[in-house]
Amino acid sequence: MNAPETTRAGFIAVVGAPNVGKSTLINRLVGTKVSIVSPKVQTTRTRVLGICMAGAAQVIFIDTPGIFEPRRRLDRAMVAAAWSGASDADSVLLMVDASRGIDSNTRAILDKLVKSERRVVLAINKVDLVKKDALLELTAKLTQYDVFDEIFMISAETGDGVDDLLAHLTAGVPEGPWLFPEDQVSDMPERLLAAEITREKLYLQLRQELPYSATVETESWEDKEDGSVRIDQVIYVQRDSQKAIVLGKQGSRVKALGAAARKELETILGCRVHLFLFIKVREKWVDDPDRYRDWGLDYNA
Ligand code: GDP
Ligand code: MG
Repeated sequence: MNAPETTRAGFIAVVGAPNVGKSTLINRLVGTKVSIVSPKVQTTRTRVLGICMAGAAQVIFIDTPGIFEPRRRLDRAMVAAAWSGASDADSVLLMVDASRGIDSNTRAILDKLVKSERRVVLAINKVDLVKKDALLELTAKLTQYDVFDEIFMISAETGDGVDDLLAHLTAGVPEGPWLFPEDQVSDMPERLLAAEITREKLYLQLRQELPYSATVETESWEDKEDGSVRIDQVIYVQRDSQKAIVLGKQGSRVKALGAAARKELETILGCRVHLFLFIKVREKWVDDPDRYRDWGLDYNA
């Protein structure tokens, strides 16, 4: 008779400058979308858990908002959430964008890691975008920082090198009981995830036209008898002019947004979805303490 394998479980904080590919990597490792991704910086607002089962090990990734130099209150709260995610974790994975190299954000993180004397695993991401010479040059520069236990070259987008990285991270996870049910992929409530999906479509479709302060909230969620679900959401913007942008000509923009979000929600939830989107102007939400609490951020950071 085989003895059952000892269970293991642990947290890995994924840190890095905005846009290096943290959410893309975690979604790939988990096998489904738990964190939204967009080319716009600061898409991830709060701590998101992505739970990955690797044999008898439960590897729980903490997707942190990109760490950057904070100026406004919302930015400060996000940076505080990112560092507290890192200090709670069993290990830290730093991601660097191979095509951007060591920018000021990454340098600030490296300096902070050096000071904290914390050993981290380094993943140089987006290797699909750069030539080998440039990659070797960047690696040489990074190794001058004496904080890395191990260095991996990956592409979160294509999956290149991701298996080796996961194997290494999994090996470092401590023995212990699983912390979440085996089939759970995130700790994000469905209502919040549904709002995040719509926010992602908003960013993807509107890009530069809308400030990243636009937000989405799920107002109601109703499971219907026929197995479908009705979801009502409000898109909050700060000004009337922004409301017009989100609406589009005769409502065409919000219609396209709703269609894209509904399609993805149907895939994730595995049922028919009726999605209703409303747009409201709320000038002051960036300074509203309740919003911060909803996202698990510290208003006074
Ligand atoms: P985060 O801010 O660190 O969470 O970054 P995201 O995961 O949101 O990714 C930012 C952008 O980089 C998105 O447009 C991704 O599609 C893109 N991206 C992420 N990983 C890769 C990669 O390995 N290769 C390429 N070419 N693009 C990537
Ligand atoms: Mg992200």
